[in-house]
Amino acid sequence: MLLDGKATSQKIKEQIKDEVLNIKHIYNQVPHLVIVQIGDNQASNVYIKNKLKAAEFVGIKATHIHFNENIQNEELIAKIRELNSDNDVDGIIVQLPIPKHLNENDIINEIDNTKDVDGFGLVNKGKLFCGLESLKSATPYGVMKLLEMYNIDVAGKNAVVIGRSNIVGKPMAMMLLSKNATVTICHSKTQNLKNVCKSADILVVAIGKAKFVTKDMVKDGAVVIDVGMNRDENNKLCGDVDFDNVKDVASYITPVPGGVGPLTISMLLLNTLTAYKTRKGIKC
Ligand code: NAP
Repeated sequence: MLLDGKATSQKIKEQIKDEVLNIKHIYNQVPHLVIVQIGDNQASNVYIKNKLKAAEFVGIKATHIHFNENIQNEELIAKIRELNSDNDVDGIIVQLPIPKHLNENDIINEIDNTKDVDGFGLVNKGKLFCGLESLKSATPYGVMKLLEMYNIDVAGKNAVVIGRSNIVGKPMAMMLLSKNATVTICHSKTQNLKNVCKSADILVVAIGKAKFVTKDMVKDGAVVIDVGMNRDENNKLCGDVDFDNVKDVASYITPVPGGVGPLTISMLLLNTLTAYKTRKGIKC
């Protein structure tokens, strides 16, 4: 069965829209997201355009601040500090990747943790690690939402995550663990990857290698989540899973496009709404 990320994302956006409308009626204000871009990365331009469009749809105010690629750490950090202290701003993201001369860690960690709606800062990551409420990295959070929407219970299941990046693989593993899955994290040095994958009831793939996972790596009836976004030999968007090859052995599978991708933006908006409510002490 197909896990339809596009439809699920739309459902989440409708829920956010209703809640934002409600907040507007009661408090006469809406959550405010600031997107900071440095340079002119083509993919970032597309992602930002989609984020702005989605924010507009749900009624969240979004501001796009665009810096020249030659900006220095100090100037950027000064801007982030200004946004941190601006009470009208609820969420701040710095669109990655940023130019190499900038210190990504320092910049991300400068964002106030209550406004860190990408969940990339150390405080939010540490809270996730400790099982505390946090602003969660949008892509793995979207995967968890997708599983929840399809009533796929992960408790007690063997979950294998391929990929250990700080923004996808590791938080993904922590979120699955927090829902009581038994989690294995694989990476480029994992031995017998095929056998490890074959043990998975839930297989999440986030490596960035087109059509890497084939059906001989997937247990019959496994749930397969493909986070990858790649171009195939015909320049067509494809995932890390060889979808046509794997779809008949999987019980559930995400397509690319239309799977995890659309959820990432919805979860960013949900995080912005959560940040707003937490900061303003709103419980609705
Ligand atoms: P990343 O930082 O490049 O990390 C890739 C991970 O995959 C690393 O941990 C690497 O292992 C592992 N890996 C690479 N080749 C492998 C192999 N042959 N066998 C096992 N593990 C291997 O990538 P990322 O940022 O996590 O992104 C992963 C993919 O998800 C990319 O395609 C990206 O475009 C996509 N993505 C999609 C969304 C979305 O919204 N859908 C969001 C973010 C990312 P080592 O650590 O050992 O090097």
